[in-house]
Amino acid sequence: MLLKTVFYVRFTDSRLTLIVEEVFFIPNSWFTLVKIIFYDESIRYITIFARMNLEQINAVKKLLSQPQKIVIVPHKNPDGDAIGSTLALWHYLKNTGQEVTVISPNDYPKFLKWMPGHEHILNFEKENSQAKEKIEEATIIFTLDFNHLGRIGQMQSSLEENNATFIMIDHHQAPSDYAQIMYSDVSMSSTCEMIYNFIEYLGDDDKITPEIADCIYTGIMTDTGSFKYSSTTSRTHIVVAALIAKGADNTKAHNLVYDTNTPSRLHLLGCALKNMVILEDYNTAYITLSQEELDTYNYQKGNTEGFVNYGLTLSGICFAVIFIENREEGIIKISFRSEGDFSVNEFARKYFNGGGHTNAAGGRSEISLSETIDYFVSLLQDYKEQLNP
Ligand code: 5GP
Ligand code: MN
Repeated sequence: MLLKTVFYVRFTDSRLTLIVEEVFFIPNSWFTLVKIIFYDESIRYITIFARMNLEQINAVKKLLSQPQKIVIVPHKNPDGDAIGSTLALWHYLKNTGQEVTVISPNDYPKFLKWMPGHEHILNFEKENSQAKEKIEEATIIFTLDFNHLGRIGQMQSSLEENNATFIMIDHHQAPSDYAQIMYSDVSMSSTCEMIYNFIEYLGDDDKITPEIADCIYTGIMTDTGSFKYSSTTSRTHIVVAALIAKGADNTKAHNLVYDTNTPSRLHLLGCALKNMVILEDYNTAYITLSQEELDTYNYQKGNTEGFVNYGLTLSGICFAVIFIENREEGIIKISFRSEGDFSVNEFARKYFNGGGHTNAAGGRSEISLSETIDYFVSLLQDYKEQLNP
């Protein structure tokens, strides 16, 4: 029997636009049936095997039925989804008796340092020898919220040389094939939603404790812009409802993530908003922050999180960008956001050595801030039509 789920998504790639009109989840199976309207208005049904299949689930079950030495890795500069998913999985595996360590490639923002278990995360930059030892000993390495090893900075070589079994759980586009077991699904709101599914696939949803629920809730909340992005589905809300029933403290998560500003962060936001440039012809708004400005406002890691989204709050703007100078790394870190069909993933991938999702992506440039802006603006001409739908 088909269980009809009501949500509508738009997929775009460079060749054609498909409208996914209906998605049917089929209970107790590992595939999804999708009704698609093609650009020529013909209707077709396709099957997507994006969810974990039974063979993979059985392989994971078999691995986890033995004692293992497990390392869990989020991407560099981890966000709420990366920290939430790694900690949720850490709690779950630890509670089943496994030896397990989360190793972050580098530090992460203060507004995430309340999440249950965060004090046990090893920082590869700061606790390098201990972290390397854990990686060398590992029999299983989970990589969460990223899909190619270039996203973990200095940790890349330690993982590339490793003989452990790699398990990838991720929702970004274009995964590379370093993992023996891959649960990769770009239709997912967040890696945290996938961790909920993963635990459910293993038949262990009754093992979701309030701590696990807090971690998963927080990652879904941050990756969906508090449940408003188009990746938020009815299923996302079902998962979130289950998490609250299992003890997630939703109000606490919102307060601790969003309501812990410092005066200097708000002043930095003021500076960013003053610097915003609006390019009406391209429905584009961009923000710049120089190293000097960051220093003036006592920049701390995570302080610019969410700034890029302000561009999209302007009526008519469908493409928002922030360029942040990082003198220590000699780069300009860039975040891209869009509303609608314009794929910032493709844009970031093509011009700024980055990637991500259709409506949220990141990248970098190794030329100066002003040269980066000139280059960026010169690219827009080719996208004028797409940006004026
Ligand atoms: P943010 O702009 O918040 O840093 O990232 C937005 C999305 O793009 C996130 O899903 C993030 O994982 C991804 N992303 C950010 N920077 C990069 C990058 O340099 N390369 C790739 N492939 N993805 C990135
Ligand atoms: Mn994510």
